[in-house]
Amino acid sequence: MNPIFADIPTTIFETMSRLAIQHQAINLGQGFPDDPGPEDVRRAAAEAVLTGWNQYPPMMGLPELRQAVAAHYRRFHALDLDWEREVMITSGATEALAGSLLALIEPGDEVVLFQPMYDAYLPLVKRAGGVPKFVTLRPPHWRIDEAALKAAFSPKTKAVIFNNPLNPTATVFPREDLELLGRYLEKHNAIAICDEVWEHVLFDDLRHEPLIGLPGLRERCVKIGSAGKIFSLTGWKVGFVCAAPAIMKVLAKAHQFITFTTPPNLQTAVAYGLGKTDDYFLGMRRDLQAARDRFAAGLTQAGLTVLPSRATYFLNIDLSPLANNIDDAAWCTRLVEEAKVAAIPVSAFYAADHVRSVARFCFAKSTDKLDGAVARIADFVKHG
Ligand code: PMP
Ligand code: GLN
Repeated sequence: MNPIFADIPTTIFETMSRLAIQHQAINLGQGFPDDPGPEDVRRAAAEAVLTGWNQYPPMMGLPELRQAVAAHYRRFHALDLDWEREVMITSGATEALAGSLLALIEPGDEVVLFQPMYDAYLPLVKRAGGVPKFVTLRPPHWRIDEAALKAAFSPKTKAVIFNNPLNPTATVFPREDLELLGRYLEKHNAIAICDEVWEHVLFDDLRHEPLIGLPGLRERCVKIGSAGKIFSLTGWKVGFVCAAPAIMKVLAKAHQFITFTTPPNLQTAVAYGLGKTDDYFLGMRRDLQAARDRFAAGLTQAGLTVLPSRATYFLNIDLSPLANNIDDAAWCTRLVEEAKVAAIPVSAFYAADHVRSVARFCFAKSTDKLDGAVARIADFVKHG
């Protein structure tokens, strides 16, 4: 069996969710919202199942969805995308990531990864024959350090996976960091695979800046989005890939032999959803921001050090001020077993030079759950 998959443990999300069930804990580990998602979008999907086309849709995605993606990104990010040549639909961002790596890199090519990194990246890079080079980001700001970037790039660099907004840190890279990365991409003739699944889940009036929109980067970026995050429907697995025609041609070849296509009814519903008025998108941010604020206030009151959360469903706490300097994995294990609250140790997202002092909580949950979790965590911190 291939050791890349045979030798890796089950994902931390699955592991913590299983522990949450075993200990009847409040699960703030795996990132999925309690909110069932907009009813009109779900109805559009149901209607499409009953009365619409249930056979293979076109390989590149339904034209109505590809047009909706281009229009949506024109509206929100001022991007000018040709839907016929530059937009493809995949079965989630995960397929888009796997396909991009398989299509773009050859064995021995180097791929720059920023850690903490979403857990799918490293095995996918390795299985595609890529050689990972890491740039380590550190709390509390998680910014790109130019010396580390310089050390990671080499003449063999073919691609970078760049996740912005960044899961699990809940941060948004400032323009300065995007420009810095852009200079290295140009200098090394490399492509950025931009995982922007969290592009709509931003707080404090921040605006998302897609890397592909920066001057000079239009031909060097693969922009990946996901309806799962935009509509709080994480099980839907409808991904969007945008790239210049020369890159897209190759991405389409990989897609045709991975999944070939994506359920047409969900595509129809997402096409409808992307056209919703700004109120929906801003309302989602407002509701999540209120949950974030409530949860952060509770944890702060419990004496914990809350790190800034500017995006995603997540909020991190810095464990280093706690007594006896416990590491995050041990702390999260005790938290789920004793306090009955599941969180994710951020060290699980590193492959080297681990930061072991940060725990991630998902706050996209009901007020009752958040308040209940805060009470349990406060008690644990006080007596634990
Ligand atoms: N990338 C990141 C950074 C994510 O957080 C997630 C899911 N939370 C994904 C990719 C996967 O997206 P999808 O479910 O559309 O495959
Ligand atoms: N992306 C989700 C998170 O960060 C989990 C996805 C998964 O379970 N694979 O929590």
